[in-house]
Amino acid sequence: MSRLLRALDDALQSDSVAKVFDLERWHDAGQLKADIAAVRATLFRMGVTSGEQVMVAVPNSYAFVVSYLACLYHGAVVVPINPETPAAELSRVMERFSAQAALVVAGASDAWAGELEASGFVKCETNHTDGLSGLSVQSWSLQEAKPGLSAKGEPSDDTPAVLMFTSGTTGKPKGVLLQHRHLFAAANNVIGSHELTERDVAYCILPLFHINAQVIVLLSTILSGGRVVMCDKFHASSFWEDIRRHGVTWVSCVPTILSILTKLNAPKEAAKGLRFFRSASAPLTPAIGARIEAMYDVPVIESYGMTEAAGQICVNPLPPGVRKSGSVGKPYGLSLAIVDADHRPLPAYELGEIAIRGNNVIEAYVGMEPSPDEGYGEGWIYTGDLGYQDDDGYVYITGRAKEIINRAGEKLSPREIEDVLNAHEDVARSAVVGLPDAMYGERVVAWVVPQDPDRVQAEALRESLHEICATHLAKHKCPSQIVIARSLPVNATGKVQKHILREIEPRDML
Ligand code: ATP
Ligand code: MG
Repeated sequence: MSRLLRALDDALQSDSVAKVFDLERWHDAGQLKADIAAVRATLFRMGVTSGEQVMVAVPNSYAFVVSYLACLYHGAVVVPINPETPAAELSRVMERFSAQAALVVAGASDAWAGELEASGFVKCETNHTDGLSGLSVQSWSLQEAKPGLSAKGEPSDDTPAVLMFTSGTTGKPKGVLLQHRHLFAAANNVIGSHELTERDVAYCILPLFHINAQVIVLLSTILSGGRVVMCDKFHASSFWEDIRRHGVTWVSCVPTILSILTKLNAPKEAAKGLRFFRSASAPLTPAIGARIEAMYDVPVIESYGMTEAAGQICVNPLPPGVRKSGSVGKPYGLSLAIVDADHRPLPAYELGEIAIRGNNVIEAYVGMEPSPDEGYGEGWIYTGDLGYQDDDGYVYITGRAKEIINRAGEKLSPREIEDVLNAHEDVARSAVVGLPDAMYGERVVAWVVPQDPDRVQAEALRESLHEICATHLAKHKCPSQIVIARSLPVNATGKVQKHILREIEPRDML
């Protein structure tokens, strides 16, 4: 049996210990095991054998936890997808993998029925999670499924567990096949770096079809013996009440959520039981982290992760360790190097590409050649993220290789320009892209979302931003155009999709 499943068995040993809160009640370990067994029975009936893919389209809920863990115990490969995927997009999403069966929440199931049937799926039954978390999960199976086949032995460390797709921030999402051993190593790195114990209560507000909530929040918490409170998504109106009511001790956030929390002005009391906020997925503006810490007396632990690493790569230490503002912290439980264009390691403070290797890191993408190994050891993944390390090993991310702007041969980092724009008090967020230019190859265009789009004086803000850029940036880095917009195209993890932004005509959209 894989170490992951053995550890899960250990964590779920005592039947009456509460594990997952959803829809006004705690579900204990005994209940969880019984429901997992019931869903596994469904998988058997549908003829799903180990190694086969099961699409799971269930929102954050107890029902997701049951469906996900049942697939892992079964040795099937979970392919978690967004249950809010529009029916018209479903076949495009499903083309990326080859699911044998699907566990789909009732609403999506109805909306997708035509598409699923067209792909050869038939609706089989409603799972036993029905009613437990207020959600019916329906099972769909490919017509050629042969009921009665048994799984081929127990999953081992090398058994594929989850097929995830990267967020698609820089282009088409890439397939990442994580094995049981990757999930086990990744969850243990999170438990170690965050000092998670059975006393911890996590609040799950990020989508479980992405790696952050799945491994960092759910698996790490369950494996450490702790409890998790499910929330379909982040709701500003009930956030602090939930934290207090359930005795939540930590929350995994993205910077956008922290930015909203700075505007809520809840009393410090509300955050009494919180040990820390975790921030990852996108750069955290240092002023937002500092403001949260001052408002609520809760440390903000910035971390750096990616799907390819089953979650976390770097993390700042908890107090009394030193958190460095602007840094994503130090590598934890894996190897990291900053390398040059020939994949040779660079010394401290030199800027290069971040390469990683470790027990939680995949070595190749699904359907793509392994990353070229040019003599710098085996198994390294070149992340496409650019940055440097300081003398103490803290990592600073400066941007993504794909987003670098090439203006007349000068390589410009959008992040440096965004940092200057974000420092303006009337700016909520910004995104800088390079657009084709006849004279310079590319020109710098900045998209800016104001704090208050309803009251902003676009012209005045633009002028003031041009001035600030002229003061703080070299002339060739200053945006040739600043566009004021109500919002930016973001994906489910809240990241700005610059490849989409580059396709939109740059004009004010208020
Ligand atoms: P794709 O690879 O499809 O373009 P993606 O890289 O956004 O999408 P994910 O695996 O969800 O897909 O995200 C990982 C990336 O998120 C990292 O490679 C990095 O660029 C960015 N990231 C994560 N945490 C941070 C952070 N704290 N600061 C800056 N960037 C971060
Ligand atoms: Mg990526």
